[in-house]
Amino acid sequence: MSKDKNAPIAIIGGGAWGLSTALHLSLTGYSDITVFDRAETIPSHFSAAYDLNKIVRAEYEDEFYTQLALVSDPRLENPLFGPYYHQTGYIVATSGEAPPKAVNSMEKALASVSKHPKFALDIHSLTTREEFRGHAWQFSGPLNGFRGYFNPLAGYAHSGNALKGVCLHLASRGVKFLLGETRGKVIELLYDNGPGGSSTRRCTGVVTADNEIHRAAISICALDAYGASLIPELGYFAVARCWSVAHVQLTEQECDLLRNLPVTNVRDLGFFFEPDPATRLFKLCPLGAGYSNTDASGTSLPPPDELPEPQGYIPLEDERKLRQLLRETLPWMADRPFVDKKMCWFSDTQDSEYCVDFVPGTGDSLVVLAGDSGHGFKMMPVFGKWVVDLLQDRKQKLARWRWQQHDGQGNNWADSVSWRVGNAREIGELIEEKNRITRAYL
Ligand SMILES: Cc1cc2nc3c(=O)[nH]c(=O)nc-3n(C[C@H](O)[C@H](O)[C@H](O)COP(=O)(O)OP(=O)(O)OC[C@H]3O[C@@H](n4cnc5c(N)ncnc54)[C@H](O)[C@@H]3O)c2cc1C
Repeated sequence: MSKDKNAPIAIIGGGAWGLSTALHLSLTGYSDITVFDRAETIPSHFSAAYDLNKIVRAEYEDEFYTQLALVSDPRLENPLFGPYYHQTGYIVATSGEAPPKAVNSMEKALASVSKHPKFALDIHSLTTREEFRGHAWQFSGPLNGFRGYFNPLAGYAHSGNALKGVCLHLASRGVKFLLGETRGKVIELLYDNGPGGSSTRRCTGVVTADNEIHRAAISICALDAYGASLIPELGYFAVARCWSVAHVQLTEQECDLLRNLPVTNVRDLGFFFEPDPATRLFKLCPLGAGYSNTDASGTSLPPPDELPEPQGYIPLEDERKLRQLLRETLPWMADRPFVDKKMCWFSDTQDSEYCVDFVPGTGDSLVVLAGDSGHGFKMMPVFGKWVVDLLQDRKQKLARWRWQQHDGQGNNWADSVSWRVGNAREIGELIEEKNRITRAYL
């Protein structure tokens, strides 16, 4: 790591991981940090964390991530994150119609928490409707064949507000922000050749859409789904993928009814959260293998529109899952219109491992943060520490977080991810489906 703590550092992307990196670098004493983001304000509507809520839980099939999530506890790590965390508890379940893959995944998570000293005493296994209602009395649906467990040591964080709060805090610490489609959008990374004609080139900074050059001793690319737009080789193993998000607009009374509802995750259908008291929106996400946008070269990137298409729409298969989820749990909501529907993009790897590493052939000048795989928000309190470690160690010591070499096998692995159920599809098919529906109603 540069010994000169006044050396300029460029962080490209002011989402959950970029802001966390800025925070921990600033806490380490680095004084010349600039965050670039294409959005006019933080939270950016291009961020996967531009949202009312994200699940904060520590149960994983892999004990390694359980330990990290425990360390990332928003109550302990930094009082900055506490206000956004709500410990409602967490119900994990499968419905009576769940395929074996969903049941196995739920059972693995239950096995991992049941033997874990931090959770074991508090985990309640749930096998009857009344047991479920013991933790979520609001469930008036039949809960046909539901099996699962309740973990009180989990909940959710208001992710959009967390990004905003951390951004304001960083600005007060002197971190600079360049925001917007011209001043903040990075369109190119700059390189020069390494010393003595070596094969290593160094990244020397970034160019923004207004053609300004910003020199940096270290550039840190935290673009999530958009990473391959600046580092094309990243697309060989980190795939831009999206999932659907939908909401139901509730009345004040309905919102009060669902206060303190545990986060509920039905592995074959989807998950939901207690309603947001400020907007009275009740957020739901279907669970599935997701959708990619693969071009002729085999790289998936979000569509390049001002806001990635399709907006105001979710696929029919997802809408059906969410309505089934509501019929089983909160049937009075099952036929209500879904509002604020969107597709939300993240960066996916085959083994769901993060990538926190230097880009090969750039020495220690260019770091890439990618592969959040849809489970990276909860690490925001501590994530930036791992980037500080990387810079200090000048190499990624953890094999699992290294840059993955191109294996030439392509990116057709989405259906095999152990904790997801269903088949991955291409976004192009969805846009056609959306256009067909629109034409049918014209
Ligand atoms: C539907 C959905 C549900 C999820 N649920 C959970 C959950 O329950 N729990 C959990 O822990 N995680 C969850 N995640 C994952 C979590 O949101 C991500 O892990 C996290 O947001 C990753 O942070 P990031 O900083 O890498 O990327 P992001 O937060 O996506 O930020 C990327 C930033 O890059 C900016 N950007 C893009 N292009 C440019 C450019 N050219 N120049 C400058 N800036 C640019 C964007 O504006 C954005 O601000 C979910 C993700 C999705 C999609």
